Amino acid sequence: MAFEDGTLPREVIIFGQRFSVRAEDPGLWAADGMGRASARAGSILISSRCGKDAALSTLLHECIHAALDITGQHKDGNEPLVGTLEAFMFSFIRDNGILVKRIAEME
Ligand SMILES: [Zn+2]
Repeated sequence: MAFEDGTLPREVIIFGQRFSVRAEDPGLWAADGMGRASARAGSILISSRCGKDAALSTLLHECIHAALDITGQHKDGNEPLVGTLEAFMFSFIRDNGILVKRIAEME
């Protein structure tokens, strides 16, 4: 498995639901994106062919898909929205560390 260096967390929690996170060779799904999320299975797969930065961005992307799925907002054609939210979240978290840290420390 790629990313044994801890690049990817082993799990994420989305709206209280735990998702396992695994890197795997995408095989047949390689032609259609770099990740997969299944709210039903509680799993997120990231292509082991990703570089580290792409793996983190892809994980955010798949978390957004999972959040939309959990809230009943998933639908075909929302890929541009997911891509926009991915880019927003990635840059927001990177550029606003103080706010992100304060939110993470809230009880
Ligand atoms: Zn997507």
